Amino acid sequence: MDAVTAHTTSGRGHLYGSVLDTIGDTPAIRINRLAPKGVELYVKAEFFNPAGSVKDRLALSIIDEAERNGSLRPGQTVVEATSGNTGIGLAMVCAAKGYPLVVTMADSFSVERRKLMRMMGARVVLTPRAEKGLGMYRKAVELAEANGWFLARQFETDANARIHENTTAREIIGDFADQRLDYWVTGYGTGGTLAGVARVLRHERPETKIVLSEPANAQLLGSGHVQARHADRSPAESHPAFEPHPIQGWTPDFIPHVLQEAVDDRLYDELIPVAGPDGVDWARKLAKTEGILTGVSGGATFAVAMQIAERAEQGAVILCMLPDTGERYMSTPLFEAIPEEMTEEEAALSRSTPGYWLG
Ligand code: PMP
Repeated sequence: MDAVTAHTTSGRGHLYGSVLDTIGDTPAIRINRLAPKGVELYVKAEFFNPAGSVKDRLALSIIDEAERNGSLRPGQTVVEATSGNTGIGLAMVCAAKGYPLVVTMADSFSVERRKLMRMMGARVVLTPRAEKGLGMYRKAVELAEANGWFLARQFETDANARIHENTTAREIIGDFADQRLDYWVTGYGTGGTLAGVARVLRHERPETKIVLSEPANAQLLGSGHVQARHADRSPAESHPAFEPHPIQGWTPDFIPHVLQEAVDDRLYDELIPVAGPDGVDWARKLAKTEGILTGVSGGATFAVAMQIAERAEQGAVILCMLPDTGERYMSTPLFEAIPEEMTEEEAALSRSTPGYWLG
């Protein structure tokens, strides 16, 4: 790139009235060095959302809809069970709009998540990891009932898939309007991203194959076991195919109602399991080889997208979701091999010129 065509910017053309107005419109970015020849691979980088994940969209949607239909009163406390990103998104939305927030979360999720929520004013009530997703879910229900709080219900509310229909899907349709789009690849936590985007793709891009992934050691959908459910759509049992897995934000130990609707409507074409360590490996490769910093679920989704890319026909175009930022995983196995102190090689570099310091 010469000086004439160097990177320049000119602002977004308007001022923003609130941090919440910056949610969505995340970029689809081409993968240049890792993609196999002859295939175009793009990632939809949800870490461009202001609180760093795809769940900012859902948090805004739940609070906006509840304000509009009157189920959330001014100043009422909001409560939700979350593996972290919904809580961080809700903490941002509640801080910006002035609602108190209480989050219930299993103690197995990264400590960065707790701190980020507390930084934005939320209170975080931990639940034991042995009680899995259902444990934190039940605690949120208990707290809501005991205190008359507003329960956000991300696993059951229609506001979840709806926001992805109205935003995530519209962005994909717009960005790929004049392009092939042969495959769209995603994982699931609540299933909101899948349900919302897939509904739109099925209508407007019926040729696009929808590929869904789940952890290899927790194949809730792959097992075929039907989730027992109460009349209010909430899960009635811990799913027997669940095992703790390292892909934070992916499946809890039950099939959420939001996901079940997508399954019933046949909103995916292929289900490909992925091992947690592969998610870690690919998140590292994305960081090191493309400069794209995403979490383990992003790495896992990308691992599946690479499998598709390897076998796809020449000219195929693939889009892969990256749900959150890698910075949310500093205390986890994703960063385990990353040293804090200077390595031998770095110390040798320090010694190699006169101005050196070895700490
Ligand atoms: N990855 C991460 C890191 C997440 O936090 C979530 C949301 N739980 C997902 C993926 C899955 O998104 P969804 O809930 O829309 O299925």
